Amino acid sequence: MLALWPSSQAGRFDSLYELRIKNPQKRYTTEQSSTSLIKKEKQFVAHNYESLPVVLSRGKKATVWDVEGKKYLDFIAGYSALNQGHCHPRIIRNLKDQAKTLSLCSRAFYNSSLGEYSEYITDYFGFDRALPMNTGVEACETAIKLARRWGYDVKGIKKYDAKVVFAQRNFCGRSIAAISASTDFEAYNGFGPFVPGFIKIPYDNAEKLQELLEKDPNICAFMVEPIQGEGGVVVPQEGYLKKVQGLCKKHNVLLIVDEVQTGLGRTGRLLCSDYENVKPDILILGKSLSGGLYPVSCVLASNEVMLVIRPGQHGSTYGGNPLACRVAKTALEVIKEENLVENSYNMGMLLRKKLKRINSRLISEVRGKGLMNALVYNEGEWGTAWDFCLRLRDNGLLTRPTRDNIVRLAPPLCIKKKQIDEAISIIRKTLKSFE
Ligand code: PLP
Repeated sequence: MLALWPSSQAGRFDSLYELRIKNPQKRYTTEQSSTSLIKKEKQFVAHNYESLPVVLSRGKKATVWDVEGKKYLDFIAGYSALNQGHCHPRIIRNLKDQAKTLSLCSRAFYNSSLGEYSEYITDYFGFDRALPMNTGVEACETAIKLARRWGYDVKGIKKYDAKVVFAQRNFCGRSIAAISASTDFEAYNGFGPFVPGFIKIPYDNAEKLQELLEKDPNICAFMVEPIQGEGGVVVPQEGYLKKVQGLCKKHNVLLIVDEVQTGLGRTGRLLCSDYENVKPDILILGKSLSGGLYPVSCVLASNEVMLVIRPGQHGSTYGGNPLACRVAKTALEVIKEENLVENSYNMGMLLRKKLKRINSRLISEVRGKGLMNALVYNEGEWGTAWDFCLRLRDNGLLTRPTRDNIVRLAPPLCIKKKQIDEAISIIRKTLKSFE
C-alpha cells in the first residue's frame, strides 16, 4: 500500500505540517533597524558568537555600511576572508556567470572547471596536486588525514600509532579534531572525548619540537601557523619556520603549514612562509581563496603525499564544485593582477609605523606583518578592549578583540593610504577619549 502524505494522516502530523509548511498565523516583520535586527538574531540564532553590536548591510572594497547608512572602515575583513575587498565586481561577475551555467554536480562526475582550476592553483603555489574542500577546518582535517595515512603507508608507522604535533594556542576551527588539537579551554571544555594521538608543544620553540622528534618515531606531522591569528596575532622569532622545516626533514615528519588566515597576501607575502623561503609538505588555504563570496578551501601537496588517499577515502559534496572553482580561480587572479600582496606589505608598514608613533599609555604593543596586525590594549578602570572597540565603532572603524586585550587590525588588502590615515586619526581620537 502507498504511504499517505503526512498532512492527510489524522492527528499525528497535522500540527507539524501546519507549523512548518503552511505557517498560517505568523506575520514576519521586515523592520530593518539595528535594534530590531539584533533582537531577532539574539532570539533565533544559537548563542555561539558574541557579535559587536553593529548591523551591516552593504560593503565595497574596505568600506562597509550599517542598515542606518552609517559608513565604517572594516578592520576585520571577515577574519581575513575578504583580502580582495568587499563585493569584488570581477569575482561577482564570474560567480554569476558560472551559477547560471553549472553550479554543482558533485565529484560523482568530472566537471568543466575543476581540472582547469587545479592546474592553476598548483602552478600558483608550486605543488603537484590540490584537494578541494569548503571551509578552513575541513581543509585542516583533510591535512591531518593525509598525514596519518602517509605515516602508515609511506613512513611505516604501525597502524593507529601515528601522532600529530600542534603548537599551543593554535586555531584550526571548531570540529572535534580541531578542538582536540586546541589548548583554548573555552573552545574544548565540555566537548570531549577528544581525538587521540595529538601532542601540543609551545609555539615558537623549535627546541621542544626537536626533543619530541628525537624520542618519538611515531610522529607523522607537525602542523603550524606561520603567525598565530586567533591565538592573538603571535609573530614567532625570525627563523622559526626554517628551523622547524629542517627538523621535520631530518626526522621524516611532514610539515603542515596552516595558511588559512596568513595566506594569500595577508602578511605582505603571497604566503607568510615565503618570508623564510619555506615550502611545506602540506599547505592549507581557505578564507580569501574565494574573496569572501563562497566557502572554498584547499589542501596542496606533492604526489607522494596526496596519492595516499584513494577513491572513496575522502571527499565532500561541495568540494571542487564548478562554482567554487571558478570563484577561487578568479579570486587568485585578482590577488596577482591588483598587486594586493605588495599593497599589503606597504600599507602594513605604514600602519605599524603610524601606530607606533601614537603616544598613549593605553597601547602597550603594536605587532604584525603586512596587514595582519594587532595592538595590545592596556585595560584599566577606563575600560576594556571591548569598550575600546565599541568606541572605535562609534567613530567609524570596525574591529574587535581577538584574545582578551588584543585588538586585531586587519583590513582588506585593497585599502588605500588615505584610508590608513583615516584609521589612524580614528584610533588617535578614540584613545584620547579614554584618557
Ligand atoms: N585555520 C586557521 C589558521 C584559521 O584562522 C581558521 C579560522 O579562523 C581556520 C583554520 C578555520 O577556518 P574556518 O572558520 O573556515 O573553518
